[in-house]
Amino acid sequence: MQLPQALISEIKGVTGFDEAAFVAAHDTAAPTSIRKHPIKGSACTLTGAAIPWCTGGLYLPERPIFTLDPAFHAGAYYVQEASSMFLEQVCKTALLTDHPIKVLDLCAAPGGKTTLLASILPKDSLLISNEVIRSRASILHENATRWGYMNNWVTSNDPRDFSKLTGYFDAVVIDAPCSGSGLFRKDPDALKEWSEGNVQLCSGRQQRIIADIWPALKQDGVMIYATCSFSPAEDEDILDHIVATYEADSVRIPLDNSWGIVETISASGMYGYRFFPDKVTGEGFFIAAIRKKDASTTLKSAKGRIQNLGKMKDQAAHLLATTETQLIMTTKDQYHAINSLHEPDWLLLSQALYFRKAGTELGQPTAKEWIPAHDVALSIDAASSLPSAEVSKEDALKFLKREDIDTTNLPRGWNIIKYNNLGLGWMKVLQNRANNHLPKHWRIRMDINNADEL
Ligand code: SAM
Repeated sequence: MQLPQALISEIKGVTGFDEAAFVAAHDTAAPTSIRKHPIKGSACTLTGAAIPWCTGGLYLPERPIFTLDPAFHAGAYYVQEASSMFLEQVCKTALLTDHPIKVLDLCAAPGGKTTLLASILPKDSLLISNEVIRSRASILHENATRWGYMNNWVTSNDPRDFSKLTGYFDAVVIDAPCSGSGLFRKDPDALKEWSEGNVQLCSGRQQRIIADIWPALKQDGVMIYATCSFSPAEDEDILDHIVATYEADSVRIPLDNSWGIVETISASGMYGYRFFPDKVTGEGFFIAAIRKKDASTTLKSAKGRIQNLGKMKDQAAHLLATTETQLIMTTKDQYHAINSLHEPDWLLLSQALYFRKAGTELGQPTAKEWIPAHDVALSIDAASSLPSAEVSKEDALKFLKREDIDTTNLPRGWNIIKYNNLGLGWMKVLQNRANNHLPKHWRIRMDINNADEL
């Protein structure tokens, strides 16, 4: 691979940069890695060497066709680049995993960091996953649904829309849009689009994003800043910009030497963590944690209470195993369950943000029955008493392609179609036929014959 000389010149002075090894590593293949779901992960049959810095992280010996594995669609694992899984260590060191907190994942699509955060945050935390680009918010929504956590809400807002939520979040993750040099092995288009000008544009955008979101972080709250760029202008220089502009401290992350991760210290003494592909088994990545020191006014909680939907709550009560929920109505006759503790958060955030998903979507009532939402079938809180049918891999793939499957042995009514005991979606069995309720836009589009080769 021909790397841009201007990029090499930019990185030359950086701690840990070894030009010959770096260039050579770009002629080797990128490793394939997955991270297992903490609850659903037991249904994942893929095996490989453990990624040492992340619970449930695995390097796979080869890249399977994930689309042809029903366990992938059920949320048993997420396909994620190994370096970025270091986020778990950062969260643990910054004490984000020992008591419930409110976290914003600001640039969240397609959902790698979000599914990791949902997996490690203490129960009763609230994770807002945001993606400004609407089309990308759809894939984020889909991945959050697969992961199945009620406390993970999805929004689609510009970073500046959060500035009025003064002092609201305990932690903000900015996995910033960047020039992408860390992904050249995986994404040759990133190489074609790379330029020094684009690095400068990205650096300016990163500073604006930080300015927009800074007020929403609490005093002593933690900002986790990450890029997949090797350029100092998008990495250490951004840390220097933060301390020059705001009051902030650096959080130092302990490393194990065998991991190959390089600690850098910026001009103003801020710690950053670099992943060079010649030193770690993973792609190029940068991450740092910053503690906010300047005071922010804490927002008053919103007044009022959620509309009492007790009758609807009774009708939908059979869907979830947990009762510590509050029912909310988002759009007309669409009901969602949220953790009862998050009622004030919903009252506040629903006035400020555009929601794609809040809590677990339960569906809607008709005169005769409750039509369950797809969300319930994928939820980690789905009631085990819900009628369900375990199917073969072949039928699971047919179901995921929205094709007909044999339902002669299934009871009439709503059934969750399961593979390896994990829900894939709903099927309504009628007298003479069955209706597949998998959302149309989430169906498999590829040919599912030859799936046994997976
Ligand atoms: N965190 C994601 C994950 O782990 O799967 C990857 C995020 S990607 C590096 C950066 C995201 O920022 C993209 O989804 C992109 O659409 C979004 N983005 C682009 N411009 C933005 C802006 N001006 N403000 C906030 N986010 C932006």
